[in-house]
Parts: sequence; C-alpha cells; structure tokens
Amino acid sequence: MLPELFLRRLHSLIPPEYFKSVMESFARSKSTVFRVNPLKNSAEELQSELEKSGFTPIPLTWLPGAFVIPDEQRRSLTSSDAFYKGRLYIQNPSSMLAPLMLSPRPGETVLDLAAAPGGKTLMMAGMMKNRGRISAVEPVRDRFYRLRRNIEKSGATIIHTYMKDGRGVGTLCPLMFDRVLLDAPCSSEAKFSTLNPESFSYWSLRKIRESRKLQKRLILSAWASLKPGGTLLYSTCSFAPEENESVVDFLLRKKEDAMMIPISLPLENYTEGIRSWEKRDFLPDLAFSRRIIPTSEMDGFFLALLRKKQ
Ligand code: SAM
Repeated sequence: MLPELFLRRLHSLIPPEYFKSVMESFARSKSTVFRVNPLKNSAEELQSELEKSGFTPIPLTWLPGAFVIPDEQRRSLTSSDAFYKGRLYIQNPSSMLAPLMLSPRPGETVLDLAAAPGGKTLMMAGMMKNRGRISAVEPVRDRFYRLRRNIEKSGATIIHTYMKDGRGVGTLCPLMFDRVLLDAPCSSEAKFSTLNPESFSYWSLRKIRESRKLQKRLILSAWASLKPGGTLLYSTCSFAPEENESVVDFLLRKKEDAMMIPISLPLENYTEGIRSWEKRDFLPDLAFSRRIIPTSEMDGFFLALLRKKQ
C-alpha cells in the first residue's frame, strides 16, 4: 500500500476525474515505449525490420519516431539486434517530453546537468543531427559509466561526458550554453509501484526537503551556465510541489533575468502548475509549468521552461 501521506498529497494535486486511473497506473507496469535512434536508422527502416522479426510496433500519434509494443514483446525487444546496437532506446514517453520542449537545434551548445543513464541526452543528440556540442554531467560513478556505454552504442559523437557534481558547473562554465536540461535527481514519486514496495519504502517529507535543497543548488548552477537569451528546461519525476513549483519559484524570485515560457503539450493528460501549496503562494507564471498525469503508458512528470532575458 502506498504511504497514506503521499496519497493525501496526491489527492490535492490530481483532478478527481483522473484519480482512479492514476491509482491503477501505480499498480501496473507501464507499456513499453521506444524511440528510434535517427543517427542509426529511420523510423520506417526500424519499423519494417521489427515487423519482419515478429514485433508489432504501433507509432505514438503525438511523437514521431516513438512506438509502443505489447508487453509480452518487451523481453524479445531487449534481446534484439536493434536494441543491442543502439538503433532504438526504450524510454517512457513522459521523459521524451523534456528534450521535445527544450528543442535543441543542430550546431547549438547544450548542457545536460544530470544526465545518466542518458535517454534524454541521446534524444537531444538525435534532434541536433549530431551537430553542435552536448556536455553531459553525472557524478555517480556507475551511472556515469552506464551513460558512457549508452552514448557509445548510440553513435553520437557530439556528447562530452564529465563525472562531476552539477552544483559546481555554473561556476566552472558561466554563460556558456544555448540550452540547459536539468532533469533533476528527485524523490522519484512517479516511479512508485505497488508491485515493488521498495520503490516507495524510503519516501518521506524529510527526503523531499533534502531533494529540494539539492535541486535549488542545481538550478542556480544551471542558470549560471546559461547564455543570455538561452533556455532552461527543469524537470522531475516527482509530483511534490516542493521539488517542482517551489524550486522554479525560488529561481524566479532570485534571478531578475529569469522568465517562464508557456509549455504547449501535444497531449491532454496534464495540469497547469499550481499557484499555492501549504499556505505558500507561488508566482502566477508558475501556471506555465506542467504536471503530467500518469496513465497506463505515461509516468507522472513535471516540466518548466525558462528563458534568460538578454
Ligand atoms: N536525465 C537522465 C535520463 O534521461 O536518462 C535521468 C536523470 S535522473 C532523474 C537524475 C540524475 O542526477 C541521476 O543519474 C543522479 O545520479 C544524478 N545526480 C545526483 N546528484 C547530482 C548532482 N549533484 N549533480 C548532477 N547530477 C546529480
């Protein structure tokens, strides 16, 4: 059973008409969705190859290059040649929204401040057609090497990896990047599963507050590394306003050159950022942020897009 306090908090964040399906989504594993690696093959080539091998990939209508397959095919997909050679990447569609909204272009300089295992880094390299430069930062050793292996497999050559604490990057590389992705370490509430009680066994308000502390330092570092006119995408896989609206609100109040950009999503299962939480008001522009409501296919997720004024 999910923690009672977590459920009470969730009740205040999820519209009542979604609550039943959200609870069901915690009790099932999500559908298997993968993304084509455009640096190695086209969606048409991969789809036809997989179909010939007996898979039934169905395109995601809102995201070109992404497909869902029946659960019973997941195992075989992870032993397929396409998987081993990095021609596809299994990734929840919510995660794909972060690069999609940040929209890096070929030739730009991009920082991925919390990068492992690298799903979003690789998606950005594809969007940039392997032109420009991505600096990918990850301080946790085994996760760093997993990131490196995924990059090698992907064929991307523009990604430079750094085993570093993201909190120091803003000081080391001030005003350097056109775009910054901060997919922050968090309490991972959206990954809770009643099939795996360990996923929520360490959850507590204290942990959420600890995460917020780190997130505030990371977002300041991300901001310092961004060029004037540059764009920052902040995301987490937590529902907690302390880790989401509160962190972005902190940045907006501290940095006069920070402004929110409205996010327009190609789907309907989301809510606007909330305006207050536990007697604390957030700035009105926080309504431009988005909280993805989990479904049988999508994880919960939070996204906020900011621009640094020139
Ligand atoms: N963006 C990744 C992806 O799409 O594959 C997932 C990132 S995960 C949500 C957060 C990552 O932040 C973890 O790999 C974690 O080890 C890393 N992390 C933890 N503390 C950090 C710090 N101080 N600076 C940078 N990254 C940190």
